[in-house]
Amino acid sequence: DLEGLADGLSDERGTTVYSRGQNPTVEALERKLAALERGESCKAFASGMAAISAVFLGLLRAGDHILFVNNTYGPTLQLARHLARFGIEHDVVHDPDPAGVEAALRPETKLLWVESPGTMLFRVADLPALATLAGERGILSCIDNTWTTPLLQKPLTMGFDLSVHTATKYLGGHSDLVAGAVVGLEELMLQIFYRAFLLNGGILAPFDAWLLLRGMRTLPT
Ligand SMILES: *Cc1c(COP(=O)(O)O)cnc(C)c1O
Repeated sequence: DLEGLADGLSDERGTTVYSRGQNPTVEALERKLAALERGESCKAFASGMAAISAVFLGLLRAGDHILFVNNTYGPTLQLARHLARFGIEHDVVHDPDPAGVEAALRPETKLLWVESPGTMLFRVADLPALATLAGERGILSCIDNTWTTPLLQKPLTMGFDLSVHTATKYLGGHSDLVAGAVVGLEELMLQIFYRAFLLNGGILAPFDAWLLLRGMRTLPT
């Protein structure tokens, strides 16, 4: 009835009123990923790139600067180059040594983006040191934690604000789905949900969420 619809639409994060918003199967997956990462909350997306886009679109504005640390997944950097037309700039520091990272920070740096192990070279960064560097300056920290999965590395327990994944690779594990996720602080996830998820429409289909829940059962083996 009209009242039920109005209630649902007033809280699209807490209800399953329309499937471009929440869905019970997707929510079951999100609870599992949040638990694995020891994060406050999780949002699943249609792909890893949709999850990465949502972090940028949900949390940044014109005038902000992103600092990428370590070798970064190519399309993530292509997206950063595209964001220049919206007034968001970036730099890349290939060496994850914290002293060099500190020197590359700018007053406008809003987001420290780390990939560790980094794409292709698999160089490992000092995650607690980088999280502290960002935290002390009020800079948001996000890691692309794809390569290790949450089984082998839990960056949120080392001080990172957000952790993103493509589930298309190891988390799915069967080469039959494309998915992504962001896990982390509830305050940030709320902004990502309402600004970047609901309006951008990059939802994970419930069937793919089900395939992913199945795939994750084989993750420890
Ligand atoms: C594949 C990959 C992505 C992007 O994920 P898609 O699901 O293909 O969009 C992001 N980060 C890393 C490290 C990847 O390997």
